[in-house]
Amino acid sequence: MRKPKIVVLGAGYGGMITTVRLQKLLSVNEAEITLVNNNSYHYQTTWLHENAAGTLHHDKTRLNIKDVIDTSKVNFVLDTVVEIRGKEKRVILKNGELEYDYLVVGLGFESETFGIKGLKEHAFSIANINGARQIRDHIEYMFSRYATEKRDELLTIVVGGAGFTGIEFVAELANRVPELVHEYDLPREKVRILCVEAAPTALPGFDPELVEYAVKFLEKKGVEFLIGTAIKEATETGIIVSKDDKIEEIKAETVVWAAGVRGNSLVEESGFEAMRGRIKVDQFLRAPGHDDAFIVGDAALIFNPENDRPYPPTAQIAIQEGYNLGKNLAVLVRGKGELEPFTFDNKGSVCSLGHDDGIGVVFGKKLTGWQAAFMKKIIDNRYLFLLGGPLLVLKKGKLNFF
Ligand code: FAD
Ligand code: NAD
Repeated sequence: MRKPKIVVLGAGYGGMITTVRLQKLLSVNEAEITLVNNNSYHYQTTWLHENAAGTLHHDKTRLNIKDVIDTSKVNFVLDTVVEIRGKEKRVILKNGELEYDYLVVGLGFESETFGIKGLKEHAFSIANINGARQIRDHIEYMFSRYATEKRDELLTIVVGGAGFTGIEFVAELANRVPELVHEYDLPREKVRILCVEAAPTALPGFDPELVEYAVKFLEKKGVEFLIGTAIKEATETGIIVSKDDKIEEIKAETVVWAAGVRGNSLVEESGFEAMRGRIKVDQFLRAPGHDDAFIVGDAALIFNPENDRPYPPTAQIAIQEGYNLGKNLAVLVRGKGELEPFTFDNKGSVCSLGHDDGIGVVFGKKLTGWQAAFMKKIIDNRYLFLLGGPLLVLKKGKLNFF
């Protein structure tokens, strides 16, 4: 009998967890499983701000996909997805094509620039290993030039957005700057880290007491916040901001846009009905009108029934979706058993402020300082455990708790 073909696109949190669940639940004789990714490695997106700041090497963040998947059960294809042809049940890759009976789309997120002029050309974003590496190298290069050029903008770093990504990144930068100042013989007072946020507060929507803790903590480390200030344009020499209808130019050689994400645009380009690249899925994570196509991670749009607002795109929900989907696909392949509807079990969120501090709400309890930092490492290590068991935690985990 012909084995059903399951094709998983993208080795992010959602795609990886779906795949390792499938390889655990199904035997080689039951299904042909293929995982496609544009890199030979899987990376922890949640650590990219550390790689971008240079406080953690990117080799710590990434792992070889073939070291985690069971290649006797899963066929790994290193290629880039170009198009999904849902009606034909085919995926077009840069270097080939794949047919499927069941498709899992886990192609993740990309930076959302909201059409703001100049951002694509003049700003960096923290979206993958390459982007993070470029930011780290660029900052070092700018700092190295200061000794001869003495231009202040070489030492000015602007971060757009004080959401979780912006805050976690400026915190890493604040820890990295003393090392850079030492390495390039720079006057510390000349280095500026500016965090520009359009909303009336940093971390809009998060617990105000914890936000105040984070802002004070970061200000003490030299981060300057421009709150209620919107980035209007990025130019060759810096950014244009507006506050209370006043326009101002800030000269900076490094601009990092961390002010929004959207689902991978390939998804809507392939004809799936999407809102900013996110597909509103049904309770079994199926795309509307595609009974055999499932969406996990940032490309999936799921509404919180309590407030009818979309759950924010997080690794936490992507992992839970992958877990649920792996099980449901095994049911479909076997043709017996009940599909389990997906429900999100929100355990809370933790925002790191460097490796040894943070803020968070976990199981309804507020955490600050080392307790939050400790919890963040537990969360990170738990993911590695789910992915590859205790050996992966030992190899790639964050074990320096204090
Ligand atoms: P992603 O992690 O986005 O991965 C997508 C994969 O698809 C990648 O491997 C990519 O290489 C591959 N891919 C993309 N396009 C193609 C293509 N065309 N062909 C082939 N392969 C392709 N969330 C939390 O819950 N907690 C946190 O602490 C947290 N911290 C974060 C810190 C930062 C700096 C950032 C940027 C985000 C953070 N998030 C956090 C959000 C979280 O990282 C995302 O929600 C999560 O990564 C989404 O996972 P995903 O499965 O959709 O895929
Ligand atoms: P976000 O959308 O959560 O935050 C973007 C911020 O940028 C907002 O505060 C917004 O007001 C601001 N902004 C938008 N336009 C602006 C402009 N023109 N000028 C200045 N500010 C502007 O994006 P994010 O922080 O990248 O987070 C993306 C997703 O990843 C979220 O779901 C988040 O929860 C998740 N994430 C989680 C963690 C964590 O749990 N530790 C860390 C990083 C990201």
